[in-house]
Amino acid sequence: MISWRLAMAYGFSRRRPCSALSVVNSPWPFLPSISCAIWQLSTILRRPYGPQHSAKCRCTSRCSRARPISYLSIYLKSQNGCGKYKKAGETEMSESYTVLLAPNPSVMTGPGTNTIVLGGGSAGAVVIDPADENAEHLAAIIRAGEQRGGIRRILLTHGHPDHVGGAAALRQRLGAPLYAFSRASVPAADEELADGASLALGDDRLRAIYTPGHSADHLCYLLENEQLLFAGDLISGITTNVIADLFKYLNSLRRLQSEQIAEIVPGHGPVIADPQAKIAEYIAHRLQRERQVLQALESLGRTATVPALVEHIYVDVEPRLHPVAAYSVKAHLVKLEREGRVKLRGEDSWQLL
Ligand SMILES: [Zn+2]
Repeated sequence: MISWRLAMAYGFSRRRPCSALSVVNSPWPFLPSISCAIWQLSTILRRPYGPQHSAKCRCTSRCSRARPISYLSIYLKSQNGCGKYKKAGETEMSESYTVLLAPNPSVMTGPGTNTIVLGGGSAGAVVIDPADENAEHLAAIIRAGEQRGGIRRILLTHGHPDHVGGAAALRQRLGAPLYAFSRASVPAADEELADGASLALGDDRLRAIYTPGHSADHLCYLLENEQLLFAGDLISGITTNVIADLFKYLNSLRRLQSEQIAEIVPGHGPVIADPQAKIAEYIAHRLQRERQVLQALESLGRTATVPALVEHIYVDVEPRLHPVAAYSVKAHLVKLEREGRVKLRGEDSWQLL
């Protein structure tokens, strides 16, 4: 919620992904106009077949690449020779899950939120994060659910608006119960899911793993036999993760290192086929940023405000994005304070101990 407030306060619209996204998330941060153009082009290419894509390519049993159904994917198919693509709306029961890209691209969501439908057979299906109340998106979720025996439960990874957006409308349409970690963050939830709660799903089980850090109410879901992790905003395929509590965030990542995971389906961006490498990379990135915060404090006379630290560390980032960076620096400082390595003096002055 705070991340959205931050984004909105600095003029980023959920419907206006272009300029800010290109700077924050682009692999070419110094060429925003080019990456912006690529973004626009990819949006156009996706449009004719709608946002749905099948979760797994079927070219070989080991291929786990996500395959968007679009003119773009048809082009890529001809380029890389990678087998059969499903058309939008076609989903087989043998497929583990279907990803539906919600129409909510922005600086915070990247291309949009991944809504996931999974399950099948007599037990029916569940949907994770029905992210937007757009009528077409809801209809696509319901269609994908019908192909899996009908949606019986609506699950949320956490209560941020870009994950909850379509939950109330879908609940009303389907009469299916809504599950979340806490009613404090999702008042409309019918049931709360505690850490370790396990739901039968076909021949498999879907286990909720409490993973706070991005938000206080964050759950990942692990489809146990298939070893598929639906990671919400703990790990992102594309966007920069906003972190509310770094101490808890790192603990959540470390907890996932002890799980058997074959593939991560993040809340934003493409499927991650090398889960443990990505988790290790996330931990290393955060620890490197922590070192930068400590070094910046040292360079600035051992005491500095958050804006001064941001200016010192994020020299290559546009000033209008500094408030988002400040949120991250603050999360690092709070962790360091908890560890007795820095101390807050006055309202916003942090001292290296
Ligand atoms: Zn979030």
